[in-house]
Parts: sequence; C-alpha cells; structure tokens
Amino acid sequence: MRDTDTVARFGGDEFVVLVEEFQKISNLAILATKLSKAICSPIFIDNQEMYVTTSIGISVAPDDATHSDQLIQFADTAMYRAKDLGRNNFQFFTSDMNARSQERLHLETSLRKALNRNELVVYYQPQFDLNTQQIVGSEALIRWQHPERGLVPPNDFIPLAEETGLIDQIGQWVLEQACKQNKIWQLNGFTELTIAVNLSARQFLNKNLSNDVFNTLAGAGLAPQYLELELTESLLMYDVESSIKLMNTLSSKGISLAIDDFGTGYSSLSYLHRFPIDKLKIDRSFVRPIGASNDTIIARTIIALAQEMQLKIIAEGIETEEQLYFLRQSNCHTGQGYLFSRPIPAQEFTALLQKQKKLSEL
Ligand code: C2E
Ligand code: MG
Ligand code: MG
Repeated sequence: MRDTDTVARFGGDEFVVLVEEFQKISNLAILATKLSKAICSPIFIDNQEMYVTTSIGISVAPDDATHSDQLIQFADTAMYRAKDLGRNNFQFFTSDMNARSQERLHLETSLRKALNRNELVVYYQPQFDLNTQQIVGSEALIRWQHPERGLVPPNDFIPLAEETGLIDQIGQWVLEQACKQNKIWQLNGFTELTIAVNLSARQFLNKNLSNDVFNTLAGAGLAPQYLELELTESLLMYDVESSIKLMNTLSSKGISLAIDDFGTGYSSLSYLHRFPIDKLKIDRSFVRPIGASNDTIIARTIIALAQEMQLKIIAEGIETEEQLYFLRQSNCHTGQGYLFSRPIPAQEFTALLQKQKKLSEL
C-alpha cells in the first residue's frame, strides 16, 4: 500500500483498507488484484507451505455512500458476494447487492424464529441393501417449511445458518429428532436400522460436540452403533489433528463415521488412513455418469479404495436401474437415491418399512 492509504485490522480475519487518493475507480480494481496476489503467495510454517486466500469487497464514496458506517457495511456486503463467487476475488458494491443483503437479513430473522415456530422438519431418505433391496437405514435431511416460501431445501439456508452460528442449535435439533425417530422405528421391530446425520464444519469445531452427541443418544435411548455421523473432507482437513482426536472420541464410543460427498472436496489421501472412519459415501456426481456417459472410473476407484482400506461403501444419488446394476457388479452393496425413494417425512418412512415387512412375510 502507499503512504497515503490506511490499513486496519477490523476484527478476526477482516481487514479494512482506506484508499483516500485515487484517480479512477478502475485503479481500485488493479489495487485489489495486487493485494490478492501479495497475500496469496505461499507462507512457510514448520517447513509446510501454506496459502491464504482473500475475498475483497469495495465500496466507493460518495457514489455508494458518504457515511463511514454505511461504506463499511456495503464493502462487507460486496465481500460476501466475492466469497460466494469462490473466494480469491474482489467485487464492487452494487445496489442490487443491497437488495440481496436485505433479503439475507430477512431470511436470517425468519430462520432464527423457525426453530421455535416448529417450521423445521426432518425428512428421511432410506438406504438400501442393493442385493436384497431391503431398507438398512436412513439419512436425516432437514427441510424448512416456510410459511410463505413453501418447503425450502437445506442448500438454501444451511450456509446462512453456518455463517450466523444458528447451525449449532439447528444441528443439535436434527440430531435429537433423528435419534428419537430411529429409536421409535427400532421399538416397532426394525431393530437393526441405522440413522445417518450430517454435521457441518462449525458443529465439528464445537468443543462440546462429543458430549452433546453422547447425551443425545442417551436421551433417546439409542445405542451408539446405530448412529452414523456424515462429515465432509474439507471439514476434516480444516484442523487435521483436532479432527482425528474428536473422531477417535466419537468412534471409541461406537459411533460410525462416514465421509460424505467423497472425492469432491479438498482432502489428502495421506491423511485418509489416519482418520478413524468407517465408511465412504460416493458422491452422486460420480454415480450420475454411470450409464449416461459410461464414465465409471471414479466410482470404481473409490470402491476399490474403500475395499483396500477395509471401509464400508455407500453410493448416493442412484437414479437408474443401470446405475444400480453397475454398482452391485462393482461390489458396492449399499445405496440411496430417487430410484428407491426420495427423502420423505417420518410417517411415510414408517409406512414404507411396514410395506417391506409385509412383503417379506409373504
Ligand atoms: P448430502 O448429505 O450429500 O445429501 C444428499 C442430497 O442428495 C440430499 O439433498 C438428497 O435429497 C439428494 N438426493 C438423494 N438421492 C438423490 C438422487 O437420486 N438424485 C439427486 N439428484 N439427488 C438425490 P438435500 O436434502 O437437498 O440436502 C442437500 C445437502 O444439505 C446435504 O447433502 C447436506 O450436505 C446438507 N444437509 C441436509 N440436512 C442437513 C443437516 O441436518 N445438517 C447439515 N449440516 N447439513 C444438512
Ligand atoms: Mg449426507
Ligand atoms: Mg452427499
């Protein structure tokens, strides 16, 4: 930066740069690019090469605002857009972003109320033994029954819940619902059913997580071997040593650990064998090409990797008979997908279980 610029740490990992002298707005873009470049050059810590990425938001006075609070707020909004666009870039504030940030605020306010208003629901997607076509478990998937918007899918509100910290409460609620529901099914005779629950990065960083999970299991009366936690690669790689410790604690109590969306995140094979995991979930982006473009190499490789590492394997997003046939042939014996069932409310799931039981008794 130049002597006439001001650089300040704003809090946490946020910094504010005040550029008081510039000729053209386009010069700010050049400056932002220079800043990003400087920051992303590698840093060596303990001989390890580390990288830092930046997301930059820019607001301009007097065009966007004249008051410092508002300028900073607009720059912040633009920064979030830059983050959404995949980090390591910059964005100028635009009034349309303002509309979006208003909407975000609105969504955040209603999400805060959603829990108490009983607007959140857990759907369950059955997981099948691909050979016997029997239900062996389910995955709990949250939905938001919004009074005006209808059924909102998790991808539309989980990121916001993570950013605002609401995910801790919401995630704990899902865990409770899922454990209780699985126990109900077990009490109704489906004794071997397992339940899989997705964890977000923020929940995984929570120091109380393992205690919360144990207490929830105890509260529901569910034995730990029937609970599976789904983690993503990126979440585990965030702090490898802490992840391993936490996973060991969970796993030593008998809880299963699965890596969700395997192969789509940032992970390192050298760490994979240090993680006490039980299962890999083949992401549906690797299942989709089976049959369609007949591009099966990734799916086959993940199955082989799981076998070599003596991990269980499950495929997600099975939509066609062809995919089912191929997976079975390739030694993947568990799966879920629209071919069998979409995620459904608990009641429908119960009906499905009963139907399956009747059929098997014939
Ligand atoms: P995921 O854990 O990978 O869940 C699988 C997603 O694939 C679900 O989307 C499911 O409905 C969808 N799916 C299942 N079978 C098929 C299929 O045959 N074809 C296609 N095209 N899609 C299929 P959903 O329910 O919209 O959830 C999206 C993501 O939201 C989940 O991905 C998970 O990462 C996250 N999520 C859902 N519930 C929770 C939760 O309680 N906590 C957290 N932290 N994340 C959650
Ligand atoms: Mg999942
Ligand atoms: Mg997945």
